[in-house]
Amino acid sequence: MVLYGNKPEGCWIAESMPIRVDAAYIRSFSAFFVFEEEMKTIKKNKKKKARKQEMRCPFCGGRVVFRSAEGIYQDNRKNVMLYICSHYPECDSYVRADPVTGKPIGTMADRTLRELRKEAHRCFDAIYKKGYMTKAEAYMWLSQKLSLPLSETHIGLFGNYYCEVVIRESNQFMENRIPTRRATG
Ligand SMILES: [Zn+2]
Repeated sequence: MVLYGNKPEGCWIAESMPIRVDAAYIRSFSAFFVFEEEMKTIKKNKKKKARKQEMRCPFCGGRVVFRSAEGIYQDNRKNVMLYICSHYPECDSYVRADPVTGKPIGTMADRTLRELRKEAHRCFDAIYKKGYMTKAEAYMWLSQKLSLPLSETHIGLFGNYYCEVVIRESNQFMENRIPTRRATG
């Protein structure tokens, strides 16, 4: 863009506004956009770095590696990928990766937590599988019971404590709905 030098003939800009001021103004504008772009890149890189740093095993602090479930799953015909602790099998902690996005489905869990999450799912899923609520209603109910936002109400994110609450609350819900047989003496 040629903005330096003399104003063209018949230019509307007043004599008191030399054209180089406008050029500087435009330059500062483009500098601002360059700055904004750079900031975006810096923020993006920071996020990337943070994600990388975040991938540490919550059980032993070891590095987390992304690899096939081959040798961990007895049957891995579905080619499941895992985020797994680099200290496996000493530290038995991993989480499945979403086959489409490659992102972890929930948080890493060791055998004990995996079993607990499975049990929590079994108890909770019964509520909508047996038709007492729709699936959406059941998750709303659970989020209220746990005082968690709906977006965070996922058993795959829960630790031992929350899993135990899910099991207790779900069982209680079911018990209140199953008619108790009257004692006949
Ligand atoms: Zn570990």
